[in-house]
Amino acid sequence: MDTKLVFVDASAAEVSAASEITAPLLAVFAVDAAAGKKDDARPVLLTLSSELADAAARALGPNEFKAGLGETVVIHLGAGDAKAGFLKAERLLIVGLGKAKDFSLDRIRKGAGTAVRAAKARAIHTLAIAFPETDAATGVTLTELAAKPLARALVEGAELAEPDWDTYRSDRKDTAVRKLTLIAKAADTSTEEQTRAGFDEGLIAAAAQNFTRSLVNEPGNVLTPTQLGARARAMCVESGLSCVVYSAEKIRDLKMEAFWAVAKGSTQAPALIVMTYEPQGGAAEGAPVLGLVGKGITFDSGGISLKPGDGMEKMKYDMAGAAAMIGAMYAIARLKPQVKVISVVCAAENMPDGGAGKPGDIVTAMSGTTVEIINTDAEGRLVLADGLHYAKTLGATHLIDAATLTGACVVALGTLNAGLFSNDEESCAKFVQALALTDEKFWRLPCTDEYRERITSEIADIINTGKNRWGGAINAAMFLKEFAGETPWIHLDIAGCAWNEEKKPWLPYGPSGVAVRSILEWVRSYSA
Ligand SMILES: [Zn+2]
Repeated sequence: MDTKLVFVDASAAEVSAASEITAPLLAVFAVDAAAGKKDDARPVLLTLSSELADAAARALGPNEFKAGLGETVVIHLGAGDAKAGFLKAERLLIVGLGKAKDFSLDRIRKGAGTAVRAAKARAIHTLAIAFPETDAATGVTLTELAAKPLARALVEGAELAEPDWDTYRSDRKDTAVRKLTLIAKAADTSTEEQTRAGFDEGLIAAAAQNFTRSLVNEPGNVLTPTQLGARARAMCVESGLSCVVYSAEKIRDLKMEAFWAVAKGSTQAPALIVMTYEPQGGAAEGAPVLGLVGKGITFDSGGISLKPGDGMEKMKYDMAGAAAMIGAMYAIARLKPQVKVISVVCAAENMPDGGAGKPGDIVTAMSGTTVEIINTDAEGRLVLADGLHYAKTLGATHLIDAATLTGACVVALGTLNAGLFSNDEESCAKFVQALALTDEKFWRLPCTDEYRERITSEIADIINTGKNRWGGAINAAMFLKEFAGETPWIHLDIAGCAWNEEKKPWLPYGPSGVAVRSILEWVRSYSA
């Protein structure tokens, strides 16, 4: 999508920003200003242009359009339309954002996405979206939003809504929105600079997330561990990051027996991917070094503890944690925070061939901890154990991992919130702050030491499951915590949120790219 930001000078008092734009489709936001639950909807257009408001008036009756979140209506502005000469758009798309009292950045993000999806549904390739104007003249008082996050939310919502994951459909139609213009009202220099900065950041963050989604969308026969390594390396070359992709030999040399126990059951070679970002001028002595560790199981059959066949095809997404880290590195390379970042991705296929690891096997992880493998389908924590430890040996002082780790996390939290675990309040608080900007939903679950006995083994140091099935997401976190040790660490269990099973007015079915933007903001919070 060729996305541009323009500032329109509304020097003539009654001519507002949106009125002068030529486009086949111009999107304008509306909210429902009705106060009480029982009141009729009172849709109000978020524009100061009386011309736009007049043109829209006939569609804004309470029984035709309620301005609900994701609700849209299209008005054709024909030659006979009294206002057509002034409004250069051929059609007006009114996008509902829901109740005025619920107005938020998240609503803006979803509204912008809805506009793009509505254009795609009509195969309209050129779209303009007017920034919401929230003056008292709209008849509603809305929370004042700062220029930068507003612009960022708008462009993110639009960019995330554009891709359809139909690459492999030979009958796919070209519904791409190729040109998008975001129309902001001309303002003072500092406001325009803030708007521009938010727009630029949003473009990068959304491109990173879309890159992650494109990786997660790939089937296991295309995106093998080797191929994931190749794509990570290509991204790093393009982005000016250093990248080394190792395979089986290095994994054995490093004595990563936990990682190897998973990888050895497949004919596909594993990949240990190490990406490094150095801040300009190098990291200061004693400054934090962030370690981003991703689970990259490109297909998870369960191994010898084979999964049931039903839904197994979804297990191509079991590298979504790795893809999130690769996407985050894409954005880090471009937004250039003043902090060193090392990302370690452990990629393998979990398969049940003759060389596969077995339940009952005991392996010694790179850290020296011995692990009794109870279930070979609990493989994500095995590869991450060595990934976390390796990141520390490379100098990481703060760790974050992302993984589609446990079905138990989905049982606990459903598909709306992902799991968040941490052994460090400061690090975790920074992540929670990041969530406020990205509107991603993570819910913190405990991993306190009382749970440690759940993973003790009679014959080795720890087991790779829990003693029974209760609290499975926590057992997995406790296992990882063992390898984080004293290092501040965050664990993101994204099993329930990495794939959108239901399409929304603002998002298609398919990979979500969850966590990319929040990891990015967490990293930026350490920027010196
Ligand atoms: Zn598994």
